[in-house]
Amino acid sequence: MSEVIRYEDYLRELKSACKKSNYSFSVIDSVGGSRKIPFVMVRSKKWSVSKKTVCFSAGIHGNEIAASYAVLRAIEKDVFGKFKDIQVLIFPVANPTGFGIGRENFENYNLNRHFGSKRGRLENLLIEATILKARPFFIHTMHEDADEKKFYLYGFDKNRDKIYRKILNIFARKYPILKARKIYDEKADRGIIYDAHDGSLESWAHKNGAGLSMCSEVPGRLSWDERVLFHVRVMEEVLKSC
Ligand SMILES: [Zn+2]
Repeated sequence: MSEVIRYEDYLRELKSACKKSNYSFSVIDSVGGSRKIPFVMVRSKKWSVSKKTVCFSAGIHGNEIAASYAVLRAIEKDVFGKFKDIQVLIFPVANPTGFGIGRENFENYNLNRHFGSKRGRLENLLIEATILKARPFFIHTMHEDADEKKFYLYGFDKNRDKIYRKILNIFARKYPILKARKIYDEKADRGIIYDAHDGSLESWAHKNGAGLSMCSEVPGRLSWDERVLFHVRVMEEVLKSC
């Protein structure tokens, strides 16, 4: 995308899409200090504590926001509505102050290294508190690897390999899988890095009750439109696997 992407424009579109559909849009708090930038969550309108909850997170790295637009598209097309037994909790933009700008938040923190940490920022704390309350059984965080033409995942824990592997294999039909033995110094097994405990949301969530926790790294070298669609499809496959 070549035009400037503004967070407020994105929020306006998201809010209007939610209004026309079965999702509620709410501002949890504001971040960015005196700039008071809304921190937002979206969830299924019909909410029940007894229903299975799946949590999606997008845009924790502000330079990887195709997933935020994938969330918007999925809401517009009611992709989640096909899965009647599941309710969704979504952080459409986990790093509002970095949105369209860069990896870190306005304080120069990589938020995805500070979950469960004493140095956790307000964004981390808001996500943690919301998740602890909603108790999702599956968390899927969406990322893009800027340098990659190939797809890979992070998964927690290895005993759930069958589920993650099935999701990965669906994409292997159309996209190459990154099969390096090491990815960013982590041991990888045919496209999946297991149990990388690095302060990420997916690692923290797994330690805090989400039996299934997965991070998808969509190839950043694909076009914007391809990435948006790719993220939508991964979310769909996550829901199918539930
Ligand atoms: Zn990322």
